[in-house]
Amino acid sequence: MKKIGIIGSGTMGIGIAQVAATNGCEVFLFDVNTIQTEKALQNLENSLQKLAFKEKISYEKAEEIFNKIKFCTELKELKDCDLVIEAIIENKEIKQKVFTELETHVSENCLISSNTSSISITSLSAELKKPERFIGIHFFNPAPLMPLVEVIPGLLTKENLAQEIYDLMKSWGKVPVIAKDIPGFIVNRIARPFYGEALRIVEENIATPEQVDDAMRTLGNFRMGPFELMDLIGIDTNFLVTTTVYKDYFYDPKYKPSLLQQRMSEAKLHGRKTGRGFYDYSENAEKPIPQKDENLYEEIFMRIISMLINEAVEAKRLKIASGEDIELAMQKGVNYPKGLLSWGKEIGFGKISDTLQNLYNEYQEERYRQSPLLKKM
Ligand code: NAD
Repeated sequence: MKKIGIIGSGTMGIGIAQVAATNGCEVFLFDVNTIQTEKALQNLENSLQKLAFKEKISYEKAEEIFNKIKFCTELKELKDCDLVIEAIIENKEIKQKVFTELETHVSENCLISSNTSSISITSLSAELKKPERFIGIHFFNPAPLMPLVEVIPGLLTKENLAQEIYDLMKSWGKVPVIAKDIPGFIVNRIARPFYGEALRIVEENIATPEQVDDAMRTLGNFRMGPFELMDLIGIDTNFLVTTTVYKDYFYDPKYKPSLLQQRMSEAKLHGRKTGRGFYDYSENAEKPIPQKDENLYEEIFMRIISMLINEAVEAKRLKIASGEDIELAMQKGVNYPKGLLSWGKEIGFGKISDTLQNLYNEYQEERYRQSPLLKKM
């Protein structure tokens, strides 16, 4: 597969273009907003030059990668591509419209894919003339740095296509995992409680955001706490993914979004990108110092880690992916310090189960129900 089309030159599109070009592919990059593409290409050129300056790659290689990306101003310029990866705005109707037009330009054999974080692959493929050629290829942000790629066949995807894309991603130096077409796929489903339970702890005035972050960093070795991470991802984006997962699971209380996060999103306190989220990023702002409390920290950590391990166990039970891929996905997609299944074993599944049972007894809420597999473990 040598000619790759990328639709959308935003955060993800330009990153995926860089990955494909680095691996010797000819890349055709299209965005409705040509100014955005110009900006993205300029930034890419600068960052490739920086890599060369730091001797991570040669100046020749930097130039070679950059020259492999062709700036397209019309979708029809993608007509000779072997594979097209769409990375435009997270909106089902707009994506479907683009695919319908794309099918009129590309050959019968061209494979078509979406980088969507939360829209059903089956629903996107269903509008195509040839839905069997459609698949999800989900990169993580930043695409050139994060190794994980979730490969998601939909119900109508032809057999063997997942394996073909899996092999292609491996040849690009990525760590691919095959996931089922379910809301949130692997990572965005399993990771929900990292944010959701942290938000609840703060909403109920049990602890402050800086205490929750400190507890997860010090007791769990997470590189970032939930609130720091939400500020980085964008509180609006994180809220949108949570809402989609909640709705698509027919309002399963386990995934119920947080009112606090909704209010933050409404107020456009989106985190780093707007200068203020759970923390203040203005020039002279000081980061609040958490009031350390050993017992409280243990409670916070056990509550969040138990919810995460329960999700990983349930994903294994439902065969959303293999046990090994579930372990790999959380470490290579969102930098978790350990696989959640082995973490559960280390803490003891009995202790995880007891923590959830105590929360269930206290709240009488479905949110804390245990995976039937966890009880057996
Ligand atoms: P972005 O807003 O940075 O970029 C989207 C780009 O799409 C914009 O440049 C916009 O001009 C362009 N666009 C919009 N409509 C278009 C159309 N009809 N035709 C061509 N171009 C169009 O968004 P992003 O963060 O790069 O996300 C893109 C996709 O990747 C989404 O589906 C998102 O869910 C998914 N994703 C995002 C992340 C992340 O962390 N940002 C991670 C994984 C997957």
